[in-house]
Amino acid sequence: MFLSVFDMFKVGVGPSSSHTMGPMVAAARFLELLRASPFHPKGVRGSLHGSLAFTGVGHATDRATILGLAGFAPATYDAAKAETTLATIHATQTVTPPGLPPLSFDPKRDLVFDYGPALPGHANGMILKATDAQGDVIMEETYYSIGGGFVLTATEMAEAGGKKARARADVPYPFETAAEMLEMAKASSLTIAQMKRTNELKFRTAAEIDAGIARLWEVMNACISRGMEGTGILPGGLKVRRRAKGIHDALMAERGLNMTAPHTINDWMGLYAMAVNEENAAGGQVVTAPTNGAAGVLPAVLRYYLDHVPGASSARIGEFLLTAAAIGGLCKHNASISGAECGCQAEVGSAAAMAAAGLAAVLGGSPEQIENAAEIALEHHLGMTCDPVRGLVQVPCIERNGLGAIKAVSAASLALRGDGQHLVSLDVCIETMRQTGRDMHEKYKETSLGGLAVNVPNC
Ligand code: SF4
Repeated sequence: MFLSVFDMFKVGVGPSSSHTMGPMVAAARFLELLRASPFHPKGVRGSLHGSLAFTGVGHATDRATILGLAGFAPATYDAAKAETTLATIHATQTVTPPGLPPLSFDPKRDLVFDYGPALPGHANGMILKATDAQGDVIMEETYYSIGGGFVLTATEMAEAGGKKARARADVPYPFETAAEMLEMAKASSLTIAQMKRTNELKFRTAAEIDAGIARLWEVMNACISRGMEGTGILPGGLKVRRRAKGIHDALMAERGLNMTAPHTINDWMGLYAMAVNEENAAGGQVVTAPTNGAAGVLPAVLRYYLDHVPGASSARIGEFLLTAAAIGGLCKHNASISGAECGCQAEVGSAAAMAAAGLAAVLGGSPEQIENAAEIALEHHLGMTCDPVRGLVQVPCIERNGLGAIKAVSAASLALRGDGQHLVSLDVCIETMRQTGRDMHEKYKETSLGGLAVNVPNC
């Protein structure tokens, strides 16, 4: 299956791509089903399962599902309108999605957090049902939110599993492994970004690709800027203070004073990433990169390149994002980008690999050096668990993105000091991530039943 740069990077809403965006997308898909059906539903209800139940409150999964059933979508999310709509739904116990009659829906009664065993297809499952005037179920669909805002029905999930090994994307450079990517780059004398762009041209015009990429960076960069201005306490009850503004103000005050240690540059990288993840935790607009929880790493590295690297050019933003998307596609295709599937190695680890590859590309790295950069970044996130305290995408997530950005820059720099030859290939590293994720105990996969989530006092 072809994974476009616009699949890997999607404008959406915080705090989680799998637990917030995905359920909203699933609800929107269910509405499409209802609009196309010959039945005349009078009500809707749903249930959240597995990780969507265990960490759903912290991730605002219920809120996202309700808004999705009311016709909201991540890409066009309007925060002010959402508040009014939610209040109306709670008061009237009715949702009024566009193109459908008003549907009975009492959020307290009709959306159930099911803490039993997860659904068989994936840790993030949800079931949506439509009912008739008597309250009897007339339609039902099971959805899985598989990370990064991607949603599959139970049938699609089964098909994807079956066809995965066979169906190659019908594009000029259908690489499914890093080894194939390097072979095709060598044979074609194209860069990774050029191959990816050629593949994208199968589905969009050059102008659409350029405009889409410009829009992605605009949203990413605006998110960094907003995050560096935000103050106060993040929602959710953990009382986590927003720190990005304070760090930014301190760094600006020190600028040009010749008194800072060289490692202070790390604070800039960490700052940019934390600014994004504080915005994400506050429910703001972010771009999945490849997920919301890991949304800060890649924009931070790109902003670092543009603002701090001599000779940097904004004309290379597309090259950065296309290269990163190629690497993210390999991680997703051959392992996972979901914390609920493989732990945080799959989220922040994949994000760091993508960012390292993007940076190595715009700094002039060869395809082999780019692959090496991605591998170094991913290798040193292997084994990392997902254990968000209280199910909120705040601790350890916000700082973790900062450190992920720093690691990504270091990985690119190390790779560029070599000739691209190295012992552990990116393919081996991705496969190791898959196996480690498979063997990882469920309590470390976005359930908040282990790790920091149980050792940090919930005050
Ligand atoms: S710990 Fe990592 S994978 Fe888990 S929610 Fe936080 S950023 Fe996402």
